[in-house]
Amino acid sequence: MVSLADVMQQAYEKYKGKHGGKNASYIPYLAQVPSELTGIAFVSVDGEVTAFGDSSYHFAIESISKVITLALAIEESGSEAVHSKIGADPTGLPFNSVLALEMHNGKPLTPLVNAGAIATVSLIKADDKEQRWQKILDCQSRFTNSATQLSDEVNQSEQTTNTHNQAISLLLKSAGNMYSDPLEACDVYTRQCSTLINCVELATMGATLANGGFNPCSKQTVIHSKNVPHILADMMMEGLYERSGDWAYDVGVPGKSGVGGGLVAVIPNVGALATFSPPLDPAGNSVKGQLMIKHICRSMGWNMFNTQIEQ
Ligand code: GLU
Repeated sequence: MVSLADVMQQAYEKYKGKHGGKNASYIPYLAQVPSELTGIAFVSVDGEVTAFGDSSYHFAIESISKVITLALAIEESGSEAVHSKIGADPTGLPFNSVLALEMHNGKPLTPLVNAGAIATVSLIKADDKEQRWQKILDCQSRFTNSATQLSDEVNQSEQTTNTHNQAISLLLKSAGNMYSDPLEACDVYTRQCSTLINCVELATMGATLANGGFNPCSKQTVIHSKNVPHILADMMMEGLYERSGDWAYDVGVPGKSGVGGGLVAVIPNVGALATFSPPLDPAGNSVKGQLMIKHICRSMGWNMFNTQIEQ
């Protein structure tokens, strides 16, 4: 059988020069990240790392941070409380949709796009916004097995252009679905999107989920194993925005993308693949990242919906 490293290298070589998609431009910082950067990493549930290309380049985590804050909220408040307040259904609409909120009387449908994610931040238990932010940042570090840092440059770029997210926060507040000051929650949400991560750290985060909440690199329990299925279900339903159904159909493993160009796919009990390539499809998913992960998952027979014993 062909080795994972060979398959990853094939996928990297096949797609690294592929054109298509565009960097996100509504956040000025993201527009100027070199589009040709391409990285891929896999971390197994035993903590073994395989990586190719620009896998140590640090990029903005963006929407992938939503998975980590969701995990923290479920750890603190329990899966039922989070589910009843934030939901677990796909919106079928763009990640910053106001319509998705309006259609449901101001109640978010999912923690993995902006409205639900900002509400999830507001659920994190803290005395003030700085403590809430520190808890989220620490949780990012525990998942990635690194001292995750805020990028002042990314944060500045987002904080000065995030009026749409502020509007979403105020709408949530007006509907009674905000659990801290709305603009403070938006500020912390914007910071959580502005931390830097590389492919190996992102794959480590995914491998922690693949491994029942136990980080295979730090050898620390990050979250309780009983909470992991809820997080993976949310990722399957909404991890690739309004393309999540296509992703489930084509690839069949939970994933999460961010407009910084990162994409993580979790293969339960096996490990996680993480890719970085900034050009995005119209929904906000990395074009090359999807192609590389699809190639690898198909070659390795990784699909949660497989019913064959032998691949
Ligand atoms: N900070 C970005 C925003 O709120 C994240 C979007 C994303 O990656 O989906 O617009």
